[in-house]
Amino acid sequence: MRLVILGGPGAGKGTQANWISDHLQIPCIATGEILRTAITNQTVLGKKAKHYVQTGELVPDEIMIEFIRQRLLQPDVEPGWLLDGYPRTAFQAEELDFLLEDLQQRLDWAIYLKVPHSTLKSRSLQRSRKDDTPEIIQRRIELFEQRTVPILEYYSFRNRLLEIDGNQTAQQVQQDILKVLS
Ligand code: AMP
Repeated sequence: MRLVILGGPGAGKGTQANWISDHLQIPCIATGEILRTAITNQTVLGKKAKHYVQTGELVPDEIMIEFIRQRLLQPDVEPGWLLDGYPRTAFQAEELDFLLEDLQQRLDWAIYLKVPHSTLKSRSLQRSRKDDTPEIIQRRIELFEQRTVPILEYYSFRNRLLEIDGNQTAQQVQQDILKVLS
C-alpha cells in the first residue's frame, strides 16, 4: 500500500504514521524527522534545511522533491510506503504524482487527520522540540492553511482523500483509520 498522511502540526500524524507503518509492514518516511536528524548530523541536506526547519518555514520544494525522488528509488520501499510530512505543497503533490507515473506506481490513499487549530496549538506546545515555540507553532499552522490545505482538494478531486476526525484519542483515531483502510 502507498499512503500519505496529512494534517497540521500536532495533528497526530507521527503517532498514527508509526502505527500504520507497523500494522501494514511498510516503511514510514517522515520528512520532518529525517530533516531534524540531518541537521544534527550536519549532512549536506541538513545544512540546506537548517534555517527553514528552525524557523518553521518550509524547506524549498526543489530540495524536498529531489530528496523524495531519491528515497522512493531505494529497494526497501518496493512493497509500499507511508509518507508523513510530504507532500506539503500543491507543487510537491503534483511532482509526487509525476514521479509515481514514471515508476508505474500509484498512491492508494491520502489520509487527512482533521483537527481544530486550538488542538493543534495545545498539542504542539506539549512537545518540547526546539521548533515548537509559540511563535514558530503559529507560523507552521499558517503555512499549513496556506500551503497544505489546498492539497486536500487536489486529492479529493482524484478520489484519493480519506478524512478522519483527528480530535479524538489516539486509539479512536487508529480504529477509524483501520475501518476506512479495510
Ligand atoms: P514536521 O515534523 O513534519 O512538522 O516537519 C518539521 C519541519 O521540517 C517543517 O516545519 C519544515 O520546516 C520541514 N519540512 C518537513 N517536511 C517538509 C516538506 N515536505 N516540505 C517542506 N518542508 C518540510
